[in-house]
Amino acid sequence: MKILFASPEAVPFAKTGGLADVAGALPKALAQMGHEVNLILPKYRGIDERRFPALPAGMVLKIPISQKVISGEVYALDLAPRFRALLLRQDAYYDRDQMYGTPSGDFEDNAERFIFFSRAVAEAALELTPDIIHCHDWQTGLTPVYLKTLYRWSPALARAASIFTIHNIGYQGLFWHYDFHLTNLGWELFTPKALEYYGKLNLLKGGIVFADAVTTVSRKYMEEIQTPEFGKGLDGVLRDRREDLYGILNGVDYEEWSPAGDSFIKEKYDAPDLKGKKACKADLQREFYLQEEPNVPLLGIISRLTDQKGFDLLAPIMKDLMRLGVQFVLLGTGEEEYNLLFQKIGQSYPRQAGIRIAFDNVLAHKIEAGADLFLMPSQYEPCGLNQIYSLRYGTIPVVRATGGLDDTIQDFNPLNEEGTGFKFIDYTPHCLLEAIKRALQVYRNRPVWEKIMVRAMAQDFSWGKSAREYVNLYEKILAKKKEAPAKP
Ligand code: ADP
Repeated sequence: MKILFASPEAVPFAKTGGLADVAGALPKALAQMGHEVNLILPKYRGIDERRFPALPAGMVLKIPISQKVISGEVYALDLAPRFRALLLRQDAYYDRDQMYGTPSGDFEDNAERFIFFSRAVAEAALELTPDIIHCHDWQTGLTPVYLKTLYRWSPALARAASIFTIHNIGYQGLFWHYDFHLTNLGWELFTPKALEYYGKLNLLKGGIVFADAVTTVSRKYMEEIQTPEFGKGLDGVLRDRREDLYGILNGVDYEEWSPAGDSFIKEKYDAPDLKGKKACKADLQREFYLQEEPNVPLLGIISRLTDQKGFDLLAPIMKDLMRLGVQFVLLGTGEEEYNLLFQKIGQSYPRQAGIRIAFDNVLAHKIEAGADLFLMPSQYEPCGLNQIYSLRYGTIPVVRATGGLDDTIQDFNPLNEEGTGFKFIDYTPHCLLEAIKRALQVYRNRPVWEKIMVRAMAQDFSWGKSAREYVNLYEKILAKKKEAPAKP
């Protein structure tokens, strides 16, 4: 199959979260299976031109944005056999220091920047003639809309099917209705059945309503987002599409995230020989100016600092945690309130808590390798990657039983000593603390703890299985399309 993959971010070019990991790794896995994949994303300023010498692909796209015509040029770079990256250059939109906004808020023209991107994807598809156009998150939400409207009768796309993946329904690309004219779509689409959401323009909703199939990144989250509690206002729209809604768990790239081959960490290790992990722990303690205590449990966290990730549970129990005598390291950036709060905690407990308010990939690897436990008390979690990385590093996750966290972590059962982590259900600080205490109790029993570590490290969430599920879905929607082709 020829697959066009459209994402606002992808490793190794640009990353703010898990979407980038997926958009880098899934196309790679699809190409390894023999499919031909083009990955398209904006050419942001942060993409290092020396490291990624992309060349003009001879594709200049002219995109109508309201009364203007804006052009974008496609640069191409081969990443692997059958896997090519296409970087869409439009300097006024993407040649900026940040991808989506500054610390004081989103860019004011984000609607325009990503309406342009969504339409450019459809326009590029005319030249690339893919079978599948796989779009990700609200920044590409209008692509399936364009394919079903303005591009519906393009012979080049007659057989193409679109699929839209929701990585986090909390981010919908919601803009005031004055931005609608930028889409150059007819106002008949500005209704609650299509792109309108209580008087506003909702780009994510476009992807959900118009794509041939909709997926999200775990089975549990697929069920959750159809409920008012988790649907963020779009649960009804999703229930309307439940026949075409799928939950496919994200895989992880073990070439990047595995202690046996990780060049960022102090000493490589692999089960059952866990000596190297001790060296990584000492290294991490030094990094954060903590005492090099091999037996003091070290809790790690790497996260965007937002309510979604459970920081409103963690903040009130920090004192209790410190009283338990553990060490704690945190790497994250996000809401100013949490940045300040955790910096203060670091200052209050310099011997126990190491806080780094930053985005630092190398340090993220060191925490995965050096910590004993990994905390992920998310309010909701579409899939979550860090808990999966943690498993492979033998860093036992303590998670809330929601979304992908519930799907990937098996709660430890003291009766048969099975399980790969510790889960709690109710979203309360007390339940989080109890789960951590339960984990710490087992931690003191070294043979049992090592058994959990070895079991965790043996879990396999590589892309192979998930990529096959996507291929099956691609084939299914293509077959469906063939049976019932669109007629003029
Ligand atoms: P989300 O996409 O909701 O942020 P995920 O767990 O799916 O959460 O993915 C987060 C990804 O971003 C992981 O690869 C994680 O290591 C990385 N990450 C998050 N915060 C940081 C940070 N401050 N520094 C380095 N990497 C980070």
